[in-house]
Amino acid sequence: MNIKGLQRSVIKTVFPLLAASGIHRITRPWYAGMGSILMFHRVCPDENRARMGGASGLEVTPEYLEQSIQFLLANDYDLVSLDRVADILNEGKAKRKFVAFTFDDGYADNFNFAYPVLKKYKVPFTIYVTTSFPERSAILWWYLLEDLVLNHQELTFEWEGQTIHYACSNRSEKESSYKSIHKFIAQEEGKVPLNRIKAVFKNYVDDLHLKTDELALSWEQIRELSADPLVTIGAHTVNHYALSKLPDAEVEWEITESKKRLENKIEKNVEHFSYPFGSRAEAGDREFEMAKLCGFKTVTTTRIGNIFCEHKNSMERLPRIPVNEKRDGKDTGTLMLWLNGMLPGLLNKFNRVVTT
Ligand SMILES: [Zn+2]
Repeated sequence: MNIKGLQRSVIKTVFPLLAASGIHRITRPWYAGMGSILMFHRVCPDENRARMGGASGLEVTPEYLEQSIQFLLANDYDLVSLDRVADILNEGKAKRKFVAFTFDDGYADNFNFAYPVLKKYKVPFTIYVTTSFPERSAILWWYLLEDLVLNHQELTFEWEGQTIHYACSNRSEKESSYKSIHKFIAQEEGKVPLNRIKAVFKNYVDDLHLKTDELALSWEQIRELSADPLVTIGAHTVNHYALSKLPDAEVEWEITESKKRLENKIEKNVEHFSYPFGSRAEAGDREFEMAKLCGFKTVTTTRIGNIFCEHKNSMERLPRIPVNEKRDGKDTGTLMLWLNGMLPGLLNKFNRVVTT
């Protein structure tokens, strides 16, 4: 077992024990804040099929989502929309701790599997849509790559006059080839390196948009979701580039254009935004300023933290709590390690209010 594998099994054993011990209650008065914004990506049934390491990390099962909701309701959390989060921060008070559900990117499984569960419990939620998803211009190359590696014994492609071979005949070769090719494609940060994607898939995939058709929300689904008062559609740029790597004008275009395109389709104002990737490497002061100028009610990052009244002055940079069933295990009780601020406190070196 490698270090990562070891870390994962330690976490899977230790987190439920910590959660059950109640030790996280110690940090609650200081690190829980007024509430939390949860970050999800995909909600997919467990298909029991082979997956590659990184590719399934952003998925939770519908059962896990439902148990999370039941757990939060049983623990007296107020499940709220992002509009309500903005109101709570502006008012500076809340009777109960709140939790807001957000889903990034715009995957069709949000409509097919998350929506029925959220609707059943009348839970408000936000989907941040990358407009190139419903426009079908995005290439979900990491899912194409996962299938490629799983379905072949060997992969070959040409790059800069050389033929490159990757062995994929067993699990460990597949894992290491997936990682290497992923790195080869993703290394050109900022924009999608189309020439690299084309090179890798040339011998194997005719339609690079295959996975986009299969996995991304359609405009019809987005319109149907948007018509439900429980649902907020937020923007997540046009192309899901790492904004910090782009020139000013392109950052501005990515933000304003995605808002405009969504507004045209759903015929409502789009008042919430989330930065693609959203860590310190991809969204910083320049991006915060630009999002602020657009007048969004709230903007979220992927910085980890709970929401405090001080965030009233930094609504364009709200931290979230990443929900990860693969990391934390099936026990939704481990959510308390995050919501009570124990893990965010440790990860942020005891800094309570995350704004930078
Ligand atoms: Zn995203």
